[in-house]
Amino acid sequence: MAVTQENTVRARAVRKRFPMGGGYLEALKGIDLEVKRGEYISIMGPSGSGKTTLFNMIGGLDKPSDGTVYIDEVDIAQLDAYELAWLRCRKIGYIFQTFNLIPVMTALENVTLPMIFAGLSGDEANTKARGLLDTVGLGDRWQHKPTELSGGQQQRVAIARSFANDPSIILADEPTANLDLKTGHDIIELLRKLNKDRGVTIISNTHDPSMLNVSDRIIWIRDGRVERVENRSDIDIEVGTIGGDVLGGVGEAHGGAAERHAMDRLKGEATQPTEGKSQ
Ligand code: ADP
Ligand code: MG
Repeated sequence: MAVTQENTVRARAVRKRFPMGGGYLEALKGIDLEVKRGEYISIMGPSGSGKTTLFNMIGGLDKPSDGTVYIDEVDIAQLDAYELAWLRCRKIGYIFQTFNLIPVMTALENVTLPMIFAGLSGDEANTKARGLLDTVGLGDRWQHKPTELSGGQQQRVAIARSFANDPSIILADEPTANLDLKTGHDIIELLRKLNKDRGVTIISNTHDPSMLNVSDRIIWIRDGRVERVENRSDIDIEVGTIGGDVLGGVGEAHGGAAERHAMDRLKGEATQPTEGKSQ
């Protein structure tokens, strides 16, 4: 499914302050962004730049100190507790770095749980969850508990769970951080496939630069601000240049000015930032 022109997520002047030692720490310093329905967005930025805080704001898991988050043009601060619960259960799927599966439950039970919360019968939920586990390549592992699955398999279960109630938006906060590079790649490819096949909007972040390859746009965050927004087309050459070699690790010696430039960007040290083209 193609990207549409409608915004599904919109943030306006979002600030977040955390109380700290009598004062406060401002983790988000006025974030503006727009995400179109069906887009695959990567949020990139150094550790501590505010990515998780931003995910929590967009996902309705925490409230901005100032500013507004709109989901499908609804200001989520205006939702009552019931509506907010509905949003979290039905509209948004969450994927975390540490998978966050329930350890005493099988893969199938983990995936059916959100469906049961949403009111599906046990039979309906089981059928749907088996289908989702098939989709993520775990059709034969549905009886396994998380400890009986590899990290990559656990994340696949978490992805199946995030799709349980047919959300229109998936938020994935560092979904590959606990995985080896190859497994991380597979997970990103899976997310991209689900994005294309189902038209679901995906907002994700990762330390893995190859993530850029699947993104429609990349939002670079630094110190609580949007530093720049890049379209996929703007980065094609750089990604093409670093190609599979990047699996060797960012920071390793590779030739080529474009490649070094790409590496600098990934480390957040770009000398010639491209100003936000889509904002
Ligand atoms: P990232 O996900 O990009 O690594 P975070 O959003 O987790 O960054 O954090 C951004 C900044 O906000 C950091 O300086 C972090 O220490 C701070 N921070 C995040 N959550 C809290 C909190 N609950 N209380 C105080 N400070 C926080
Ligand atoms: Mg984080």
